[in-house]
Amino acid sequence: MEATKLKKSKQRDAILSFLKTRKDHPTADTIYENVRKDIPNISLGTVYRNLALLTDIGEIKKLSFDGTSDRYDAETSPHCHFRCRNCGKVIDVEVDGVLEDILSHAKVPGQIDEQITVFIGTCEQCMDKY
Ligand SMILES: [Zn+2]
Ligand SMILES: [Zn+2]
Repeated sequence: MEATKLKKSKQRDAILSFLKTRKDHPTADTIYENVRKDIPNISLGTVYRNLALLTDIGEIKKLSFDGTSDRYDAETSPHCHFRCRNCGKVIDVEVDGVLEDILSHAKVPGQIDEQITVFIGTCEQCMDKY
């Protein structure tokens, strides 16, 4: 589906602009709690539907991790993520040039549409705690 053919939606706009203010890859629940402050009658189902739509048209990215809720990211340029296995936070990671390098060296029997790289470990805050 093309973005230009979509009817404008106040709810979708609110979801997208909220997500653009966040760098912490919030879950649908967090997005719902915040968008509700502006649009009190929005439902969680509507939030999910719009997040799926925004993902489909490439306005946002969905990050799926085993065993936890999906996270959403308004930063659609190629970047990697770091996930803390202790507190579950997801942080953007810059890896200059290396991503393109991996892609050009990957021997894939077909065409690559997307590359998802997640580093897993313990974040600084959690390391301080133990
Ligand atoms: Zn942590
Ligand atoms: Zn990100």
